Amino acid sequence: MEYVKNLRCTNCGKELKPEPDRYLCPDCKEQGILDVIYDYEKIKNSWSKEELEKNQEAGIWRYLPLLPIDPGTPRPGLRVGGTPIYKNKVLAGKLGLEEILIKDDGLNPTASLKDRASALAVVKAQEAGAATVCCSSTGNAASSLAGNIASMGGKMKAVIFVPDRAPAGKLTQLLIYGAVVVSVQGSYEEAYYLSDAAIKKWDWYNRNAAINPYLVEGKKTVSLEIAEQLNWQLPDWLVFSVGDGCTIAGAWKGLYDLKQIGFIDKIPRLLGVQADGCAPITRSFYSGEPLEVTGEDTLADSIAVGKPRNYRKAINAIKDSRGEMVNVSDDEILEMMKLLARITGVFGEPAGAAGLAGLKKMVKRGLIKKDDLVLAVITGNGLKDIKNARRAVEEPLTIRPDIENLERLFKAKGVLD
Ligand SMILES: *Cc1c(COP(=O)(O)O)cnc(C)c1O
Ligand SMILES: [Zn+2]
Repeated sequence: MEYVKNLRCTNCGKELKPEPDRYLCPDCKEQGILDVIYDYEKIKNSWSKEELEKNQEAGIWRYLPLLPIDPGTPRPGLRVGGTPIYKNKVLAGKLGLEEILIKDDGLNPTASLKDRASALAVVKAQEAGAATVCCSSTGNAASSLAGNIASMGGKMKAVIFVPDRAPAGKLTQLLIYGAVVVSVQGSYEEAYYLSDAAIKKWDWYNRNAAINPYLVEGKKTVSLEIAEQLNWQLPDWLVFSVGDGCTIAGAWKGLYDLKQIGFIDKIPRLLGVQADGCAPITRSFYSGEPLEVTGEDTLADSIAVGKPRNYRKAINAIKDSRGEMVNVSDDEILEMMKLLARITGVFGEPAGAAGLAGLKKMVKRGLIKKDDLVLAVITGNGLKDIKNARRAVEEPLTIRPDIENLERLFKAKGVLD
């Protein structure tokens, strides 16, 4: 915490001491989302790109000066972050671009970008003196918390409230990691309020990304990493799918921090992608009106958030970057999952591939140019939700064990040239 000055309320501007269990501004309540404020001068004077390059640590902790944790607090035993960036010309062509970079964050230890935030939650909970961490989630926030808690070897516990639509893969992760799982028969919303009541009643640590200011700081490591991996030469656009809005807000925060300490000189434009059936942030982004709660009608469960709590941070981030938003249909998402997997070997869950589907649309509309360099983050792995992946693909070829039959079938299906 050497470099953290304060927490600042995004609503009234009031500054508060950075206590590990401080979630919201006491004056502004639900509106009072907090930002972590760093002493950038101090970081500048004691940290450099050269020093970072020498650091042998592979994951997110290599960015310690920009993380709001005490260096002495025990950390989860998993390697979070350090996910690869791939360049793919063929995919670029299919999207109407000359070049595309994809960062596969599905290769995190519990297979989504959410590990970045959950790792921070495990550290902050200990700093707050809590052994139980709670969250309500559509899946990945929860499964990442469960996995990172499990890596502490039994000294901490995760309690998870899940809405009853959570995909089986994610639910299974929670159970195998040994979390206490409460399946709430109702919406994300109802699960959220129940978890909130339980947290207050039993004094647990709160891993609800929308209000916990430290989690965004974990998510921001995705852009710290992108910048370092690309040798501080950032693309023109970064693409993320958007549910609650914390991921894209976090990505922006990382870029902002890097700019403040002089590691980069420009912030790329951000493209935020929502699903047609659940796009409250896109609507507010373009209308300028306050957010209107919507239904949650999409198969991309990780971005099905009808009442996002952090939408202001997301909208400010995208606006500041001179970015855009766009919505995609479930069919477009499934098509993109299939294309991505077949061309790159990267298997994304629906919300993981939604960003690319939005990118394709924006290129078609001419809002992203053919020669713009774009990096899209694949935010979660497809094995988490095989039910929807199966909807995108054909059935296997089925046959009796007979070679002539096999040849006939192959010829009919065009398997043999
Ligand atoms: C959580 C999540 C998102 C969206 O992040 P928000 O912070 O909710 O906007 C996108 N993709 C995946 C796979 C996720 O788990
Ligand atoms: Zn306030």
